[in-house]
Amino acid sequence: MNKKLMLATHNAGKLREITELAAPGGFTVLSLVDFPELSAVEETGETFAANALLKARAACRATGLLTLGDDSGLEVAALGGLPGVHSARFAGEDQCDRRNNDKLLAALRSVPTAERTARFRCVMAIVTPAGDEYTVEGTVEGLIAERPRGAGGFGYDPLFYLPASGMTMAELPLAEKNRISHRGQALRRALDVLRTISVTV
Ligand code: IMP
Repeated sequence: MNKKLMLATHNAGKLREITELAAPGGFTVLSLVDFPELSAVEETGETFAANALLKARAACRATGLLTLGDDSGLEVAALGGLPGVHSARFAGEDQCDRRNNDKLLAALRSVPTAERTARFRCVMAIVTPAGDEYTVEGTVEGLIAERPRGAGGFGYDPLFYLPASGMTMAELPLAEKNRISHRGQALRRALDVLRTISVTV
């Protein structure tokens, strides 16, 4: 069976990762890129869950499709959990990965390796055209490296060091990132939810 799943995102990196994971579940994945008339909603929530729901509700209402919205980001312990829900715009409104990474390195300049602990979090919200709502979450723990390494992924991946792999997230092949990442975990949980509800929408 081929089911349509709307992703409430314009982010090409997320789209690539989620499409790869959702395809085996029989989903044809659409995104805001397929609906140029829709603009992104303002992420005014103070939690990842609130923002994921804001995005999913808006795209579901506009398209009438079963919709998955996600909100994700990086929490750095030495910065009291920042950049958190502000991860995309940590260094400014233009959402520049390079500047975000530079700002993060500068903020941690005097912080020793053992105290550079960080966590990626991803909350996914599923909203059905009937108005039912579900949220699931995934997290992955790591350390902020002293300098960027690797060319894969997006965002803070070149600085997110995984001690168990001896690599940054940007050095991992996409399939491996999807296996361990916050988004991979959240999406597998979301697919479990989708399997139980997609027959009714
Ligand atoms: P969102 O689009 O509001 O969810 O913002 C997510 C932001 O968090 C991105 O722009 C990145 O800066 C960061 N982020 C989320 N997931 C990842 C990831 O898997 N790797 C690197 N950065 C990420």
